[in-house]
Amino acid sequence: MQPESLMMTYGYNPHWSEGAIKCPIFQTSTFVFKTAEEGKAFFELAYGKRYAKPGEIPGLIYSRLNNPNMQILEERLCLWDEAEEAAAFESGMSAIATTLLSYLKPGDALIYGNPVYGGTHHFINHYLVSIGVEVLPIHPKQSLREITSAIEASKLANKVKMIYIETPANPTNDLFDIELVSQLANFLMNFTQSRPKIAVDNTYLGPVFQQPLKHGADLVLYSATKYLGGHSDLIAGVVLGKKTDLEQIKHLRTFLGNMISPNTAWLLMRSIETLKIRMEKQQENAQKVVQWLLNHSKIKRVYYPGIKSQGTEQIEIFKKQCLGPGAMISFDIEGGEKEAFTFLNRLKLIHLAVSLGSNESLAQHPYSMTHSDVPEDDKKLHNITPSMIRLSIGIEHVDDILADLHQALNF
Ligand SMILES: *Cc1c(COP(=O)(O)O)cnc(C)c1O
Repeated sequence: MQPESLMMTYGYNPHWSEGAIKCPIFQTSTFVFKTAEEGKAFFELAYGKRYAKPGEIPGLIYSRLNNPNMQILEERLCLWDEAEEAAAFESGMSAIATTLLSYLKPGDALIYGNPVYGGTHHFINHYLVSIGVEVLPIHPKQSLREITSAIEASKLANKVKMIYIETPANPTNDLFDIELVSQLANFLMNFTQSRPKIAVDNTYLGPVFQQPLKHGADLVLYSATKYLGGHSDLIAGVVLGKKTDLEQIKHLRTFLGNMISPNTAWLLMRSIETLKIRMEKQQENAQKVVQWLLNHSKIKRVYYPGIKSQGTEQIEIFKKQCLGPGAMISFDIEGGEKEAFTFLNRLKLIHLAVSLGSNESLAQHPYSMTHSDVPEDDKKLHNITPSMIRLSIGIEHVDDILADLHQALNF
């Protein structure tokens, strides 16, 4: 069965909870053992003291280690990306930081794709660097040859443990070729004993429109605050991949204690029941908005996956690895910051707020808001100008979205 058919029932039996059709919130810190022998057995498995016997399932002990809401949520999330294992966190940043920390030790090197989410960029360039991790940025417009020669020049090749990218990139919708990154990992095997792990932040397209594990990624990460949550009412994060690759991430999560709470997991379970229908509607609306913007005299350029102005190489990557263009649009308005702000201040239906992926449409100004911390040179390199607006398109009636854009541009 398809994931959207299983989202309402998978991993939960109503007869466990008085016949309740929906999985209740297990708002409990600890779980009662039937016998002391059972408690001993649960701990043996939880602490990896022995392997499970055939048919033996790890029991519930304490909600920092596991909780039915976290477990059922993780099982359901696996279905979308066809992953073996998932780990859910109380924020996207905690999923990202825990993943990086569990694979990188002082003296190791990380290759990361620029631009990445501001919080990720800060964590890499401030925290990881401060504990002695060496970092090397690459960007989507570089060829494999340019990247490999930069790595050779840096003398870091034998230390690389992870390659971390985000695609599409925020806010320009530039796509990183995941297959190229996979070739890069193969190249690095000439220098290291083990293949560096490839981690992809897939927040922008979600599992509905891009499945990085199928294109060579080892780990896929989400800020579940965005499309997975989809209602602007929770903060959460997820990492998915092979069981063996998730083991050390889950181990570190147990000790950092940044697992998702039962309440947030329950909200997220509610949300992913409608993930596909929401994302498809948002994309359908966004495609109409893109066509409208392309024909508007006050719009200089539109940034959206798969359209002509992104360039032919980008279109090839789009065809290879994306199942759809999603619902994030950026555009340059005629003029500069003044005109951009006038437009933003005139919006009525579309809210002026950062974040993305929710069922209501949002607009913001990357240059002075989400990307204000990005150095001026990098802003230039990535076309983040004072005239750029970023839209996250929601599920409203598209005519109302277009009418709002029309009246806000009419100054
Ligand atoms: C929002 C976001 C994050 C951070 O997630 P939080 O849930 O806010 O911690 C990471 N990556 C991307 C692409 C994001 O948009």
